[in-house]
Amino acid sequence: MSIVLENLERLKEAAKLENISDEHMKVLQNPVQVSYAELSVNGKQLPAWRIIYNRALGPGKGGIRFHPEVSEDEVQSLAFWMSLKNSLADIPYGGAKGGVKFNPKESSPEEIEEISRAYARAFADKLGQDKDVPAPDVYTNGQIMAYILDEFEKIQGHHEPGMITGKPIELGGIALRGDSTAQGGYLVTKEMMKKFLIGKDSAKIAVQGYGNAGLFMAEKLAADGHLIVAASDSKGGVYNDQGLDVKALSAWKHSGNSVNDFPGGTKVSNAELLELPVNILVLAALENQITAENAERIMAPCIVELANGPINLEADRILANRKTIVVPDILANSGGVIVSYFEWAQNRTGQILDEEYLRDLLDKKMKSGWQRVVEKFEEKNGEITLRQAAYILAIKRILAAEKYRGRIK
Ligand code: NAD
Repeated sequence: MSIVLENLERLKEAAKLENISDEHMKVLQNPVQVSYAELSVNGKQLPAWRIIYNRALGPGKGGIRFHPEVSEDEVQSLAFWMSLKNSLADIPYGGAKGGVKFNPKESSPEEIEEISRAYARAFADKLGQDKDVPAPDVYTNGQIMAYILDEFEKIQGHHEPGMITGKPIELGGIALRGDSTAQGGYLVTKEMMKKFLIGKDSAKIAVQGYGNAGLFMAEKLAADGHLIVAASDSKGGVYNDQGLDVKALSAWKHSGNSVNDFPGGTKVSNAELLELPVNILVLAALENQITAENAERIMAPCIVELANGPINLEADRILANRKTIVVPDILANSGGVIVSYFEWAQNRTGQILDEEYLRDLLDKKMKSGWQRVVEKFEEKNGEITLRQAAYILAIKRILAAEKYRGRIK
């Protein structure tokens, strides 16, 4: 089943649990705007998308992914998850996502700049601080956001830093953004441990995907005394049951090495990492990592989804039967977009807010999201999953906005 169809199935399930009518759910069945372009760069034609799934709560908001496997199905699914994530986080955004299908690892910096600028030109009329606001995602970063901003502003003829987030600080970005996804994930993981892993002062944790989200998350958990026993990237992983030296591992990764070659442990494949005997499995790479094929073999009693969509629908059902606790992506990785919202708000008002205040606000928003999800979960006597609880809350806020707008009765 495509990821889009799986998402619709998940929506249906959540709606049924809360007796939301099919008529109301119709507004969430399809994206509101699908834009496609072929970017001509150095004689190549690169497929590119920008999709807004829903905008009842505000402008589109979501990252841009550069990856050789990007497809419309994937971008639409990511835009769908962004809609629910932004709704659950109580921020004034709809959900959107973008992507370009090419391999940035095989492209020169000049070519990546040209592709970023071509992306901005292709979608300039669709983007803007009140229309749709991109951000970084897999294999995109602040520099790429800067190229897109620069090209967009050239076309518009005025400054508009709020059209994109995750920018360098000099262009209106904020310091907090760098590790905000991991910080948010770390805060909900701590809440999850208090509730579901009582007495575990030193949990064993495996992290799949040692990139922006996974690396900072591992560092924060290790600083609290937890053991990061395994980590991986696209080339494979490393395992040490006594705990990896996380500082050394991060330095190794920052120097351009793969964690797979890190000398402080034994090599494991990404598939093996998922099945290790750990207390918490952090998924911070890509979609569809746990499926019906491996779900029965997952030994971790708790999983945190820092990546978007790392567990497919069938696997979700298997894990639910086994009472595995899954902190869903739309909650666990929402720290990034919450801080993006702070950046956007600053850009729009011209005010510069105190960093401590914003850190505190992120903390409060993450904890409030966790509490609301747990309350819904408990209201249903723990017979639903945390994902279903989160979906119900997110759907209801979007539908309330649709109702006020008169699109549903
Ligand atoms: P990134 O590009 O910084 O890191 C991705 C990491 O995953 C890299 O280390 C890469 O080598 C590794 N990887 C790729 N394929 C893999 C595989 N098959 N197995 C194991 N590792 C693999 O990207 P990121 O920003 O850290 O994003 C990771 C996930 O988190 C994505 O699903 C993204 O959508 C999600 N996310 C990121 C943010 C953010 O602010 N960075 C926010 C929300 C969600």
